[in-house]
Amino acid sequence: MNPYPALKNAAGPEIRETPVGIQILVMMGLATLACAVATVAAEDRRRPHVLARGIYGGVPTQLFDRGKTLEDFGVNAIWMGAGGLSEERIALLRKHGARVYAEFNTMHDAAYLKEHPDAAPVGTDGKVSPPPDGWQGVCPTHAAYRRYRMDAFRNALTDFDIDGIWLDYHHSHAAWEQAVPNMPDTCFCGRCLMMFQREAGVPLPDGTGAERAAYILKSKKAEWVRWRCGVFTDWVREFREILDKARPQALLGTFHCPWSDADYAGARLEKLNIDLKAQAKYLDVFSIMPYHARFGHHTDPEWIYRQARWLGEYLGITGKPGERHKIWPIVQLSDWGENVPTDQVRSVLDYGTRAPSSGVMIFAWGRLHESWEKVEEMGRFYRSIR
Ligand SMILES: [Zn+2]
Repeated sequence: MNPYPALKNAAGPEIRETPVGIQILVMMGLATLACAVATVAAEDRRRPHVLARGIYGGVPTQLFDRGKTLEDFGVNAIWMGAGGLSEERIALLRKHGARVYAEFNTMHDAAYLKEHPDAAPVGTDGKVSPPPDGWQGVCPTHAAYRRYRMDAFRNALTDFDIDGIWLDYHHSHAAWEQAVPNMPDTCFCGRCLMMFQREAGVPLPDGTGAERAAYILKSKKAEWVRWRCGVFTDWVREFREILDKARPQALLGTFHCPWSDADYAGARLEKLNIDLKAQAKYLDVFSIMPYHARFGHHTDPEWIYRQARWLGEYLGITGKPGERHKIWPIVQLSDWGENVPTDQVRSVLDYGTRAPSSGVMIFAWGRLHESWEKVEEMGRFYRSIR
């Protein structure tokens, strides 16, 4: 039984053409479908919302030494310490098509204390607070230190053709960059106590520094935290003012603690005095520092995304094009604390580049280049999302 009598009986080209036509149509359809599937897969990998695919840690000379380009690794942005800026380095990176961003140390210039011991933070005992786990901060109301940092900030912007500058260590005298943070209460120096009374309108009882510190933490904690946060925010206001005059097209970013308001009982605000909502008025880019391996999340790289997502909701940042504020996490690829295995590189970068993040940079080139297979893996990911 011939199910297709018309075909069998027909010898004319019209009838023969029909099945061929159908075959062609089917083939074209399949081809189109295949193309569509391939396109979707490619677009799945591409992340056009990711503006910066960066390396933190200076000029990656080891990459150039191998005859490679930044383009080979999909890198389009480099962060380096402001002290390492030079016209030659910037020109080299520009030749490779990269944007150049400086990192600027605000509250952690320990060398300053050698000649200015009155700038050392004072603890609850009324004495100079020893650096927690070796991390030395500076009193945030020391006028000469502030001027010294503002001048250095201005010089970095006027002397060098950079695309932006990122504040770093802009927080209290506390070692938070580890799995178990060490965050002493400071600064109860005479200057800070006087300014607190005057600016917050909180009179303090007579007594020793230790007694006054105890009174503040027991009875005026909220006022104290609010005032301290305001002091750190005012530094950011002045940094912005300087940037707007010196190089207005440059971005102002900050490397900051990645904790939510709930983490460590609100320590980001209460201990570190980082008021991100208030600072947002002056900042363009928030670079949270979710060093998952260093901070006890080495088996849970998704933590990176959860912290960025919290920040996005907190500050109303979605990662869509055109937003003024951006979240560009600095994610850990080099070994510090726990190791970051090569097979984790992709997921670290994946979580670091999901909206609300719209950029990412890796921490840190200085150690990372010793693990070249991780550099290669970073390059594969960066190229795939372009
Ligand atoms: Zn002080």
